[in-house]
Amino acid sequence: MANRTEIRSFFETLSAVWGTQNWWPADSPFEVIVGAILTQNTAWINVELALANLRRARVLSLEGIRRTPLSDLESLIRPAGFFRQKSARLKSFVSWLDLTYQGSLDKMLSTPTARLRTELLALNGIGPETADSILLYAGQHEIFVVDAYTRRIFERHRLIKPDAKYDSIREMVESALQQPASPIVKSALPSPVVEPGPGPAEEVLRPVVHSPTKMSKSPRSNLAQTYNEFHALLVQVAKHYCQSRVARCELCPLRGYLNDPVQIQASSRNRRYQGTASAVPTRSRQKKNSVPGRLNPRSPRHPK
Ligand code: SF4
Repeated sequence: MANRTEIRSFFETLSAVWGTQNWWPADSPFEVIVGAILTQNTAWINVELALANLRRARVLSLEGIRRTPLSDLESLIRPAGFFRQKSARLKSFVSWLDLTYQGSLDKMLSTPTARLRTELLALNGIGPETADSILLYAGQHEIFVVDAYTRRIFERHRLIKPDAKYDSIREMVESALQQPASPIVKSALPSPVVEPGPGPAEEVLRPVVHSPTKMSKSPRSNLAQTYNEFHALLVQVAKHYCQSRVARCELCPLRGYLNDPVQIQASSRNRRYQGTASAVPTRSRQKKNSVPGRLNPRSPRHPK
């Protein structure tokens, strides 16, 4: 129960600090699905390159993937890595959709959540994270997406054990957030201008939020919106503060929930949780960035 209260507090704190995250960066449910498959084991920036290739070739659509020869598809999505596997997965998804739902994404996405999840998980190369990303971000189903970032943050806060199963983490978060949360009152705060030198650390490190898209503005229930936001907010925490080799706890919005300093101290021996003064960008680092206050302008807009 305490864990669930803490998880809910994470959501409320991050929402208040950073506001709406406008996920997912896509203009159609199919684009979300393609992105969810392409983002497996790669950074989002590489997915964006592959999506741009598909868009340029005018094949970022069901019909486009259907008619594109496998070898051409492989070339187009090459930047996303594992391009042979991922091309086969895209083809296999479209074939399954044609066979099971007569090629209708609307029909597919209006299938009850549990049934559709089971069907998706039975497809080649679709694991729980990809299936739940499709359900939540393409179909607005009420299901939370667990990823490596969620695990890392929860483990460091001792909310889960390292061997916790995907579905037990998902169910714990869903149980914590099952009552619709209070509305997110603050809109995304603008990126701070840092002149002449770095301002308050919290402002310097405030993540950049991407612009609204057709999919981010899709109608959804309060609960789906809460799951949508919470996953996106945890991604921001992990990318900017709770990184695999460094935890910038001293600047992180969730630092107030780390009430056991021994946790950080003990972990810093293996350098995994080490706080660092370099968390605040220096002026020389700032000069490299085209947008003041942005840690890394090439930082992926979404997941990985
Ligand atoms: S950086 Fe520190 S305070 Fe922030 S989520 Fe990670 S462990 Fe928690």
